[in-house]
Amino acid sequence: MDKNPTFIGSPEQMYTVLVCPFCGDRKEILNLICAGGLIEELWSDTRVIMPYMPVIFPIQKCKHCGKYYFINEEQYINVDIDAFVERLSFSQLKEAKVQFGSQALTLWDKEKMYMEILRGYNETFRCQYNDRTDQPTGEDVMLFYETIDWLLHESKEVKKDYILYSEILREGGYFQECINMLNGVTDQTNMWIIRPILERAKNGDTNPVLLIKSGKKLAND
Ligand SMILES: [Zn+2]
Repeated sequence: MDKNPTFIGSPEQMYTVLVCPFCGDRKEILNLICAGGLIEELWSDTRVIMPYMPVIFPIQKCKHCGKYYFINEEQYINVDIDAFVERLSFSQLKEAKVQFGSQALTLWDKEKMYMEILRGYNETFRCQYNDRTDQPTGEDVMLFYETIDWLLHESKEVKKDYILYSEILREGGYFQECINMLNGVTDQTNMWIIRPILERAKNGDTNPVLLIKSGKKLAND
């Protein structure tokens, strides 16, 4: 079973309408209205908070039948949005993954799903975001390591980005491998990202790092 939503609308319109592939229910999602909005927060796991820039998540949940579906690659590109309006919670992402288990997912779907799971896990169980104290279950931890493993070994997107690759090594506890990758970097342009990641890796810290706060980089180039 490979179900994709019907997509109506164009980037110029205020709303994009997604039609649930399971029950036909319609869901309006607000389009990008203000490009170049201020980044309130950027984290090293690529979580971005941009309050003035409504964005669309790649996995949607139908409010009517409760099923999950991907906005497929072409549609996603059409709406020209690289992240978020309705962020699924970690427990919803787990439900979605179970449902997707019986579907043939494309590589692109998996790229999006595992990155969402990584950020969802970090958001839920790593306290820096919201002073949360929730503890992951054994199953949650297993899913986290499955995610790290998939992103490091199967993801093309992660392989293309050595900083993200290094960061995922660190978040998975592969500190020395992370340090080895980043120690040799001479290009100064990304040092505001690399330096904090490297420092955390040397301290044996797997938590995501806040890189931008209120539009300002927290580390120097
Ligand atoms: Zn539905």
